[in-house]
Amino acid sequence: AKESGRNGYQFYSREIHEQAIARFSLENELKDAIENNLLTLVYQPKVNLCDGSVSGVEALVRWDRGEHGAVNPADFIPLAEETGLILPLGRWVLREASLQMQAWIDGGVSPLVMAVNCSSVQFTRSDMIADINEAIAYSGLDSRLLEIELTESLLLQDPELGIRILRDMKALGIQVAIDDFGTGFSSLSYLKRLPVDKLKIDSSFVKDLGIDSGDVAIVSAIITLSHNLNLSVVAEGVETQQQYDILHGFDCNEAQGFLIGRPMPAEEFERWLLDYTQ
Ligand code: C2E
Ligand code: CA
Ligand code: CA
Ligand code: CA
Repeated sequence: AKESGRNGYQFYSREIHEQAIARFSLENELKDAIENNLLTLVYQPKVNLCDGSVSGVEALVRWDRGEHGAVNPADFIPLAEETGLILPLGRWVLREASLQMQAWIDGGVSPLVMAVNCSSVQFTRSDMIADINEAIAYSGLDSRLLEIELTESLLLQDPELGIRILRDMKALGIQVAIDDFGTGFSSLSYLKRLPVDKLKIDSSFVKDLGIDSGDVAIVSAIITLSHNLNLSVVAEGVETQQQYDILHGFDCNEAQGFLIGRPMPAEEFERWLLDYTQ
């Protein structure tokens, strides 16, 4: 029994050791990918539910790992957050997304608001205002065309810091949206104090619209509350016409999801835009 116990322990520690090595090598590979421009952005449209026009676009990061294929952000953003690599990654995303929108505008595309996701780690561990300023200056993009999507976690962790940074962002003229709204349990009274422009209703509430009456009630309550607070509302994860119609009926401002368009590489997005607006 003693023998197997020790073997068991050795096996366990070797496994942990191997995991640590794999993690370390993935971390190095990600670092290399950031430095060598191996990350890309895909772009997903948002439409205005009032008139059906394209209202904006969200940049989502992808990592092409060569023979391993494309890795989704869910599989490397947490690692990037734990290791601090989210800081250079986040700066790259801000800069690249701003440059892309300015390039589209220079090429004759009607200006759209470009939304960029930012992790709460970026807010607490780097000077976001400086990073945003740098991206705007470098790209020449009108700051009103830049939107930052952030989750409630930052605001829950450190509300005072969150509010201060939000104020600074508003002073720059950029737009701010609370992403995944409804999943973070932030108090509704707190919402009133936040200098934000938009709420994005999390896709988990949109998914069962038309099937689950509880979700219908939640979504309609979020929209009513937001409008009373003068906030605009976006629904994410819209996949069916039924969901679209219900949201339209509730006076939701914008919709985003596979029904309208998937996240696409830049050239594909340009074609999509031409098709959609013709
Ligand atoms: P998110 O910001 O909530 O983005 C929405 C996610 O849902 C995206 O996944 C998008 O591809 C997917 N999606 C969009 N429409 C639909 C739909 O109709 N149905 C379904 N089932 N899914 C839909 P993605 O691109 O894998 O991104 C996952 C998360 O990773 C994002 O969630 C965001 O939190 C994070 N992320 C992505 N890019 C960045 C980035 O540049 N920086 C940071 N910090 N986080 C990022
Ligand atoms: Ca988002
Ligand atoms: Ca979201
Ligand atoms: Ca989400």
